[in-house]
Amino acid sequence: MALVKDSFDVVILGGGAAGLMCAIEAGKRGRRVAVLEHADRCGKKILISGGGRCNFTNLHSRPENFISANPHFAKSALARYIPADFIALVEKHGIRYHEKTLGRLFCDGSAREILQMLETECKAAKVEIFVSANVLEVTRTTEFVLRTARTEFHSPVLVVATGGLSIPKMGATSFGYDLARQFGIKLQEPRPALVPLLLAAEDRSHYCDLAGVSAEVIASCDGAQFREKMLITHRGLSGPAILQISSYWKPPAPVLIDLAPEKKVTAAFEDAKAPRNVKALNAAFQEFLPHRFADRWLEVNPPSAFTNQALAELERRAHRWEIRPAGTEGYEKAEVTAGGVDTDELSAKTMESRRVPGLFFIGEVVDVTGHLGGFNFQCAWASGACAGGSV
Ligand SMILES: Cc1cc2nc3c(=O)[nH]c(=O)nc-3n(C[C@H](O)[C@H](O)[C@H](O)COP(=O)(O)OP(=O)(O)OC[C@H]3O[C@@H](n4cnc5c(N)ncnc54)[C@H](O)[C@@H]3O)c2cc1C
Repeated sequence: MALVKDSFDVVILGGGAAGLMCAIEAGKRGRRVAVLEHADRCGKKILISGGGRCNFTNLHSRPENFISANPHFAKSALARYIPADFIALVEKHGIRYHEKTLGRLFCDGSAREILQMLETECKAAKVEIFVSANVLEVTRTTEFVLRTARTEFHSPVLVVATGGLSIPKMGATSFGYDLARQFGIKLQEPRPALVPLLLAAEDRSHYCDLAGVSAEVIASCDGAQFREKMLITHRGLSGPAILQISSYWKPPAPVLIDLAPEKKVTAAFEDAKAPRNVKALNAAFQEFLPHRFADRWLEVNPPSAFTNQALAELERRAHRWEIRPAGTEGYEKAEVTAGGVDTDELSAKTMESRRVPGLFFIGEVVDVTGHLGGFNFQCAWASGACAGGSV
């Protein structure tokens, strides 16, 4: 069967958050845009995001909320498409939303509304969306040619918006990274991020039967720190504090956990008349930690004595509980992929490859990873809008 030839001004590979935003902006500028999505529908990750309510942006988005080998790269795109721009779009579509905590904005209803909004905007901008589009080959002569089983898509501009490797069952592929390699574009090694950590066997045997117990802690690693909830799981640690710090963790570094932020756990023992025994110590730790976890932690990390010096050492250890994770739960459980297309390869203004004119990379496939809390979508919207404004 002969291949059908179809020509566009812009072909976007991947109909997720970044790809759809790029399509809207390019379509609004009168470009003839095709989005090729290999799944049977666009935006599957949007639908499951934020527990089904989509944490679509963060009011306090700042460059410090993004991790990259070049921390300055994302500044330009983030400054040109800010949370208020996306909020204006959400409000234009009458979508109701609320701030949960720490500037994190969620839909009152469902993440479906955000996807519907993007699809409506695409339609208005005359974007053509091809789902179940399985690209077999990409070549470049005077223009890019993307071949599927039935169609050959021709375009002078190719935008790669294929996302990261997390949640393979939702359609994540390494296609974007492979394409970058095909065109000689460098990558920062991809790795799972915003991901639960696995405890080493000994720690697992000490703590994992307490799965479900949580506490507010400060988790720190590699100069970063997060004060949020930590959750004990069947295989290790999770909860927002751990997910956040996982993005900074690389083996074999330790993760340090302050179990009682800004508190002096052993303060009661400053009173000379206070009894000094295991029961009193457990009671002191139970003030700040769930009882079962307090008791267990002290069982595993007992003070060497009840002297002032030994209690001071225990206090120090409670604020610097050192964990050496055995690994992470991997891409199956990771919310995002850190690493990706090296930002040195891209123009920060347009997201276009410096090496291959007409080739753009946007969204999670690029080595810019947001903290937990709506930052990853903000980065997808911003990089998508930035490329869409220049293609
Ligand atoms: C469970 C979960 C919850 C999340 N919740 C939030 C949240 O509340 N807030 C937040 O900010 N971030 C959240 N994230 C992260 C956020 O979803 C991503 O960072 C964001 O979707 C990245 O946008 P993207 O367009 O780069 O990639 P994606 O949205 O992943 O889109 C990539 C698209 O490309 C398609 N694709 C892949 N390979 C090919 C190929 N070869 N050919 C054609 N198409 C292809 C995929 O099917 C997909 O549709 C969450 C992630 C997960 C996994």
